Amino acid sequence: MDIEIIRSKRKSIAIQLKEADKITVRAPLRVSDKEIMAFVESKMAWIISNSLKLKMKQEKLDKVRLLSDQEIAELYKSAKVIIGEKVRQYAPIVGVTYGRITIRKQKSRWGSCSAKGNLNFNVALMRAPEKVLDYVVVHELCHRLEMNHSARFYKEVRRVMPDYEQAERWLKVHGDEIMAEVHGN
Ligand SMILES: [Zn+2]
Repeated sequence: MDIEIIRSKRKSIAIQLKEADKITVRAPLRVSDKEIMAFVESKMAWIISNSLKLKMKQEKLDKVRLLSDQEIAELYKSAKVIIGEKVRQYAPIVGVTYGRITIRKQKSRWGSCSAKGNLNFNVALMRAPEKVLDYVVVHELCHRLEMNHSARFYKEVRRVMPDYEQAERWLKVHGDEIMAEVHGN
């Protein structure tokens, strides 16, 4: 395992694990290497368990096949139609209006909703089960009522989709795989 030590004007020692076999330690200027190593050793259980998690995640992503440009273009085409239909279907159920619908290839988010009601959706959602796609549509439409993730927001989401947590869980477990299909890893 590689250890990189970065000293700076900070008050405490912190450990970061960006890759499975590389530890980055951020430490105050005056802390000795010996103290840093003692700190790292005290965190070994955390380091090992997180390193394993990262390895498993990377192995999972290594198995993902990157879609071709043509396949992604097809996804865009169907996303425009299918997501458009879903927004039309759910908007009256949520009880809101909306603006433009845009399909994007984003690395970080599944969808967004602007103050004007313009909706963006990630093209990678087309690789998710339909229920998950429905959830993201409902989620963004509910932002027309609540521009946050408060309890009131989730109450609205639950009213329209009582089992929405299943879809959230799916995205948590498999989201990085469908992202990788579109973006590479
Ligand atoms: Zn949201």
